[in-house]
Amino acid sequence: MSNRRNFIKGGVLGAVGTAIFPKLISAIAQNSNPNSEEGHPMVISTWKHGMPANVAAMEVLQSGGKAIDAVEAGVKIPEADPESMSVGLGGLPDRDGKVTLDACIMDETGNCGSVSFLQHIKHPISVARKVMDETPHVMLSGEGALQFALEQGFPKEDLLTEKAEKRWREWLKESEYKPIINVENHDTIGLLALDKKGDISGACTTSGLSWKMHGRVGDSPVIGAGMYVDNEVGGCCATGVGEAVLKTLGSFLIVELMRQGASPQEACEEGIARIVKNQNYKDMQIGYLAINKKGEHGAYAVHPWFNYALHQGGENRMIDSLSYLK
Ligand code: ASP
Repeated sequence: MSNRRNFIKGGVLGAVGTAIFPKLISAIAQNSNPNSEEGHPMVISTWKHGMPANVAAMEVLQSGGKAIDAVEAGVKIPEADPESMSVGLGGLPDRDGKVTLDACIMDETGNCGSVSFLQHIKHPISVARKVMDETPHVMLSGEGALQFALEQGFPKEDLLTEKAEKRWREWLKESEYKPIINVENHDTIGLLALDKKGDISGACTTSGLSWKMHGRVGDSPVIGAGMYVDNEVGGCCATGVGEAVLKTLGSFLIVELMRQGASPQEACEEGIARIVKNQNYKDMQIGYLAINKKGEHGAYAVHPWFNYALHQGGENRMIDSLSYLK
């Protein structure tokens, strides 16, 4: 079927056609293979902590579970892992020594939930899911999010581990705030899943930039910035300096580009191009992952060394992303 798509894009309408009729081409491509099982099920996620997350998500999918349950189960693994120092328990704190968490989740019907600036709850993704399932709202923040989580029965915990506190005390000596490219002071997990039925969902969860100002919220809990899915098209998630992603609403942009006919790879590259065009990209890393309904994926980053975990076709493996700077 992908041959047919290439034929339609390249042969019949050609380059002019793709510029003038992107929506038409996209519609033809999708209609040509409405029930494709190609690439299903699949899970893709950011960074190395994506490997065990993918395994947990794939278990749900293999047993016939829904993508929305898979993405939640997947990202809960690094959230609970104190060694994953950019997510959940053990996450590096803000400059006041507080661990504050951001997360969002979105299902195949466009339902979504999110929490931002949440403290003391190990699984912000599950609180975001409760916001989606149990409230008429999309986002709860700070004290209100904590109050809601406690009402829902989540335990209140101290998330600052000894190791994270030690790193913070080291940082306090100089107190220099500077995101360092690709080190663990900012490594969100964004995870996208395509289930056996072909439905897409996504999740994104993080402790945000370490040593950030107290109260700072990044891209990760913002639907359309840190993550977005549209079941007609595909999904996208982001990692890296959230301010750059927020300024361009990166995940929404990339899904919309795919709707217009771009491949996941082309869409991710354009998402990074928008950042590079107007922002001081040399000092910051941003990485995007995207998938479409056929199970094709794309990945692109500003700097080299962004990597991701892909679980597809019975294999779970790490892949190095392409990047704008070589
Ligand atoms: N995007 C996250 C934030 O800005 C951090 C990261 O992914 O590294 O909070």
